[in-house]
Amino acid sequence: MNGTVTVEGLSKSFPGTSTPVLDDVNLSVEAGSCTALLGPSGAGKSTLLRAVSGLEVPDAGRVLVGGQDMAGVKPERRGMAMVQQRPLLFPHLNVLDNIAFAGTVRGVPKRTARVDAAEFLDLVQLEGFGRRQVTALSGGQAQRVAIARALAARPSVLLLDEPFSALDPELRSAMHALLAELRRRLNPTILMVTHDRSEAAVVAENIALFSGGRILQHSSVELMYSRPASLEASRLMGGAN
Ligand code: ADP
Ligand code: MG
Repeated sequence: MNGTVTVEGLSKSFPGTSTPVLDDVNLSVEAGSCTALLGPSGAGKSTLLRAVSGLEVPDAGRVLVGGQDMAGVKPERRGMAMVQQRPLLFPHLNVLDNIAFAGTVRGVPKRTARVDAAEFLDLVQLEGFGRRQVTALSGGQAQRVAIARALAARPSVLLLDEPFSALDPELRSAMHALLAELRRRLNPTILMVTHDRSEAAVVAENIALFSGGRILQHSSVELMYSRPASLEASRLMGGAN
């Protein structure tokens, strides 16, 4: 599937929230590009990712992938993989089978899926961890397993919600390099939430800057710094991290 992602007029409210969590959000990203979603906590970034993935049904608006309307398309049929802030692994499967699962649901034979999974395990620097129980992993290790599982699904769209925030700086750099390598190999369209502006500049070409359920500005990383479109954008992109 062509991985161009277009979000049109997306709105979402939850019972009990006085203002919409997403307020008429429009965003279009090219196939194979990497866009960082930045902005204050509570701005709606995670909700947008969840709406794109199909985990959240919007009140209004639509999500198109490669021009195809995703309304009514189940999350697992959207050609997407998502890594949430806190990894969700299957506790009853070992590390390797957690990753191989991404292949078997696509109809890949189990043995092939396991070989594939071992390769992704190496990529996230967890070689030798295949037989471990996921409940025995550290937070950072579990997150890397979740990343490997997302990659093993060969998604055309990869949705990452602060995937590296639990990792120490060294591992984080290694994951940035991994992401670059992955882009060369598989070229998925990436939407990545981060609260770290320097990380956004390292991994992404473009930034979508969120505030209060809206996108204040969507532009290249360079233009976001050199030509902020508003005082608020300038304030959010400047100052201390
Ligand atoms: P961000 O990822 O930018 O920090 P979120 O998308 O997680 O923001 O959340 C935006 C707002 O929506 C927050 O105020 C949050 O409390 C609220 N919210 C998110 N999910 C739900 C939910 N399921 N029910 C009620 N409120 C929610
Ligand atoms: Mg969030």
